[in-house]
Amino acid sequence: MPATDAQIEQLLSDLVRIESVTPWLIPDGAGEGAVQQFIADWMSDLPGVEIWFEEVAPGRPNLFAKLPGVGGGPTLLINSHADTVGYGNWRERALVPERRGDTLVGLGVADDKSSCAIGMLALRSLVERGVTLKGDLIVATTVDEEGSSIGTFHMLERHKPDAILVLEPERLDDIVVEHQGFGWIDVVVHGRAAHGSDPDKGIDAIVHMAEVITRLKKLDDTGFGRGADGGSMSGRTVFHTGTIRGGTDYATYPNSCVLGIEIGTQPGEHLSDRVHEIEAIFAEVKAIYPDFSGEVNVQIDREPFMPKGYDALFDAIVASAEPVLGHKPVAAGLNAWGDSGLCSEAGIPTLCYGVDGGNFHAPDEWVSMPEMVAAVEIVEHTIERFCGVAEG
Ligand SMILES: [Zn+2]
Repeated sequence: MPATDAQIEQLLSDLVRIESVTPWLIPDGAGEGAVQQFIADWMSDLPGVEIWFEEVAPGRPNLFAKLPGVGGGPTLLINSHADTVGYGNWRERALVPERRGDTLVGLGVADDKSSCAIGMLALRSLVERGVTLKGDLIVATTVDEEGSSIGTFHMLERHKPDAILVLEPERLDDIVVEHQGFGWIDVVVHGRAAHGSDPDKGIDAIVHMAEVITRLKKLDDTGFGRGADGGSMSGRTVFHTGTIRGGTDYATYPNSCVLGIEIGTQPGEHLSDRVHEIEAIFAEVKAIYPDFSGEVNVQIDREPFMPKGYDALFDAIVASAEPVLGHKPVAAGLNAWGDSGLCSEAGIPTLCYGVDGGNFHAPDEWVSMPEMVAAVEIVEHTIERFCGVAEG
């Protein structure tokens, strides 16, 4: 029995009501423990399904539900994340799911509880229909995707499925086959502190940083040399400043300025490419100010998503989606980063797929309910096609 709109609304609403903010972002966030327990309990009546937790951090377990196959087919792992970002901007409404026409609104309703629900409902439907798979199916809900991804790192150290389908809200028309990587980088400019009336001694780190920022923005305007559309499926290269601090007081030349930036890398690039560009900027500024001194400190480095060997999974999604959507989904890229990047880095054939939604990480996050109904059916049939169905 395909899941109905009403069943999906019920399950998604239950998931939204359980706060699962990652404490990595918001220190008093509840974490994923309660929502993972709810998901485990919801699946616990399914005969033949093995359910277990793998603790990643205290009170923050990854959850696995395995429907063992009879052999002769590949193992598919379906991955979604159980955590959300914070909700300080809509505190009174975020955890109160609200139906608005064809959408459901609530914190994490799309990113990524829609995906948790799809995996849960597809698994339930397979079991209730009595489908016997050849390969194993593992439905995993992981922790901390919105933080530092410790859940998916932990999972990849312990599990090597033949393929991973990462469910994240996109559009059912798009199968994500690549996305950008990113870095969080501190750009540090050194100056020299001196009395404010002693320009011969002082070196103004903030003025020097201004030259760096102007040049970074110029590179951004050209998509870091790739044109405004990025010249790739994954769109324009991500760049923005995030934080800046420098100086000590009004009366003193600032001896240091630190700029925190987020910067993307296109498939085929590495963060070292961006670092070299920043170092080239340093050389330009030094030509103007010989006493310029700067350095680049990489805080986080995540490779782009460039999966290989995903053809069988891609074909299974297309064949399952076409009768439901009335047309074939197409290969697409993304300018954002997701845990899918870690899966492809681990050498596992991986694709990223999911339902339409919006206002991610913002008030009134929504998900398309018609896409949810379609997605459960598509994912269920994708599992059958990929893992194989045993006769009789
Ligand atoms: Zn997400």
